[in-house]
Amino acid sequence: MAGRILIADNIATNRIILKVKLAAARHDVVQAGSVEEALRVARESLPDLIIADIDLPGGGIAALCEGLSAEPDMAGIPVIALAPLEERRTRLAGLRAGADEVLAKPLDEQALLALARNLIRSRATHAELLHKQAITREFGFAESAPQFTRPPHVTLVPGSPEAGFGWRAGLVGKLNARIEVRSRRDLFDRIEAGEVPDALVLSASLAEERDGLRLISELRAHGASRHALILLHDPSADPALTTMALDLGADAVLSGAFDAEALSLRLDRLLAQKRTRDALRAAVEAQLSLAVTDPLTGLYNRRYAQSYIARMQQRAHRKGLPFTLMLLDLDRFKQVNDRYGHLAGDEVLREVAERLGANLREVDLLARFGGEEFLVVLPDTGRAEAARVAERLRRVIGERPVHVPSRGCDIAVTLSIGVVVSDENGPRGGPAGAPAKGLGIEQLIDRADRALYASKSEGRNQITFVRSAAA
Ligand code: GH3
Ligand code: MG
Ligand code: MG
Repeated sequence: MAGRILIADNIATNRIILKVKLAAARHDVVQAGSVEEALRVARESLPDLIIADIDLPGGGIAALCEGLSAEPDMAGIPVIALAPLEERRTRLAGLRAGADEVLAKPLDEQALLALARNLIRSRATHAELLHKQAITREFGFAESAPQFTRPPHVTLVPGSPEAGFGWRAGLVGKLNARIEVRSRRDLFDRIEAGEVPDALVLSASLAEERDGLRLISELRAHGASRHALILLHDPSADPALTTMALDLGADAVLSGAFDAEALSLRLDRLLAQKRTRDALRAAVEAQLSLAVTDPLTGLYNRRYAQSYIARMQQRAHRKGLPFTLMLLDLDRFKQVNDRYGHLAGDEVLREVAERLGANLREVDLLARFGGEEFLVVLPDTGRAEAARVAERLRRVIGERPVHVPSRGCDIAVTLSIGVVVSDENGPRGGPAGAPAKGLGIEQLIDRADRALYASKSEGRNQITFVRSAAA
């Protein structure tokens, strides 16, 4: 994934060498020579990633990270710090200062590019979630309550049980997390059982199965562990392996001797980012489901039903199969409210929704279309079958009163139904995906509504049919 990268280094030749590499990989490059300049350029051009000299004039990487985190727009921009030498002290200092990764010179070009791609992708995922959240908020749905935060769950998958104990002992006390050691086979059993850790630390040299890389792709391919963090420990410090691991979807690679301090710094940061992402994802899902469902009955709402019918029409047209649309309205429901109260009326609506749903197929749509009005769409269904379904629905409401425990009473209600069957009969020519000829959604619903009205004037508790082609 290509993006905009800010190179921050006071030595022009360093910037140029890096710029050539990044531009060849189709990244758009901007430059700065000091912390102050880097913050200004970042503010103006909002890069997707910053690669900065760890000793950048003006306060070094710490000042840069502090400046970035002070501004909401820039707070999440990932930072790679470049150190002159491979040195543990420098590396830890860079991570503590807030860098996402510290790389020592000479840089391995492929590994750097793979890391850049990963960081840019994860930044884009975050931005996409924020964007979705902003959209759903525009629709006017409240933010969900902050989630209960439990300590994260980290699973270690070492090359040998002894190594596992060593890893675990090194991390305990440094990391606020539930840490456990598992074998590879055990791991998948757990994941299948729905126990997915927030982060996994894998050894690149899994003794039995040889291949830590294969495990990364298996975990990424598995739906349940798709969003888990994956860190790979590669004792051989092989840049080619780092590149492959990152390309397969690892979030970080720790090379060389196992360093619990560096690992816990990386994990801390990645887990915090993941927590934010998970919360965003949950909020977006909750808001989306609020946007299309009715809180009283749990059925889809009118907005969803309308876009569903539009898609249904296109599909029916392409397949040349009819579909049926019904409007169902409770008879004299105002009297129910007047007699038993609004809450009892709500109970009746819930029970009616439940009975209707229980008498439809999984593929059928049942929506609450208005106050005491429901809409049913039956895909691939012509008149004869529609008549059977309508009769079944009419009967399932009228034959047995609704028991309302809160009022200690039984309330008898009936349904009037208006049915329109689309006039698809046999495949038509014309390009696939072309909009259905004939009636638009509003017109279809209007026909069903007129049929419903006819049922009402004929005495209620009745079914009336029209064809969509009929005048
Ligand atoms: P008709 O047979 O002609 O349909 O008579 P009706 O009384 O059902 O029709 P009308 O449209 O006059 O009244 C609909 C009633 O449905 C009025 C309203 O109080 C009630 N209603 C609408 N939404 C709700 C709801 O969410 N809960 C409750 N309890 N009642 C509702
Ligand atoms: Mg009514
Ligand atoms: Mg009504």
